[in-house]
Amino acid sequence: MTTTPVLEIRNLHKAYGALEVIKGVDITAPKGHVISLIGSSGSGKSTILRCANLLEDSQQGDILFKGEPVTWRGEGLNRHPADAAQVLRIRTNLSMVFQQFNLWAHMTILQNVMEAPVTVLGRDRAEAEHAARGYLDKVGIGDKCDVYPAQLSGGQQQRAAIARALCMEPEALLFDEPTSALDPELEQEVIRVIKDLANEGRTMMIVTHDMSMARDVSDHVVFLHQGLIEEEGAPDALFGAPKSERLQGFLSSTM
Ligand code: ADP
Ligand code: MG
Repeated sequence: MTTTPVLEIRNLHKAYGALEVIKGVDITAPKGHVISLIGSSGSGKSTILRCANLLEDSQQGDILFKGEPVTWRGEGLNRHPADAAQVLRIRTNLSMVFQQFNLWAHMTILQNVMEAPVTVLGRDRAEAEHAARGYLDKVGIGDKCDVYPAQLSGGQQQRAAIARALCMEPEALLFDEPTSALDPELEQEVIRVIKDLANEGRTMMIVTHDMSMARDVSDHVVFLHQGLIEEEGAPDALFGAPKSERLQGFLSSTM
C-alpha cells in the first residue's frame, strides 16, 4: 500500500515578470522522508519552497498537499491567493524555517513560539504554552523561555524558530538555508536538532549549502541548476558518484 505524499510538486514553472526562474520541476516528498535541495545561488531553491508554501504564485504546474491541488495562480498586479483559509492551512501545515530566524524582537522566546498557535490557529492559551515549553525543551533551550531573542546566540535563535515551526504541528517542515547565517561552531547545534527531527520520521524539505548535513539526513537529494533539476537521487549515489559535470563541479567547489 502506498500513502499519498505530503507534498508533490509537478512540472512547476515560475516567472518573475519575464524572467522564468523555475522551468518545469517535479519533486515529491513522501511522508517521513527528508528531501534536500542543493545548487548554486540563484538556481531556484528558495523559490520552490516559497511556491510550495504559497508565498509565491506560479504560472504552470501543480502543487499538491496530501493529494489536494493548492496551486496559486497569479492575477496581474493585484494578485492574491483566492482562498485565504486554504493559504493559512497550507502555511500551517508546511511550516517554514528561514535563514534569518525572523523572531519577533519585542516578544520573549516563549511568546514567539506560542503566538501563532494562539492568535492564528485559535488554540487554548494554556495548552499552547505547554506545547511551546515542550518544543523549546526538545530543541535544548527550555531554560530560555523568558528571555528576548537579542539575548540569544544565532544558534539558539534558530532553534527557537524551529520550536516555533513545530508548535504549529505541521505535516512537514520546510527549511531555507537554516544554518547559513550562523558561525560554524553554532551550525552544529542546529544540525543536531534537524538530525533529531529526521530520525523522528518528520517529513522535511531542506534547502542547504551544507553537503555533509544533506548527505546525513536526506532520503533524496535534488540538485538544481538554473531552474531545472540537473540530477537527483539517493545521497550516497549523488554525493559518492555524481554523474553530471555540473554536479561534479558544484560538489568540488563546496568541499
Ligand atoms: P536560490 O535560493 O537557489 O539562491 P532563488 O530561488 O532565490 O535561488 O532565485 C532564483 C532566481 O529568481 C534568481 O535569478 C533570483 O535573482 C530570482 N528571484 C528571486 N526572487 C525574486 C524576486 N522577488 N523578484 C525577481 N527575481 C527574483
Ligand atoms: Mg535561496
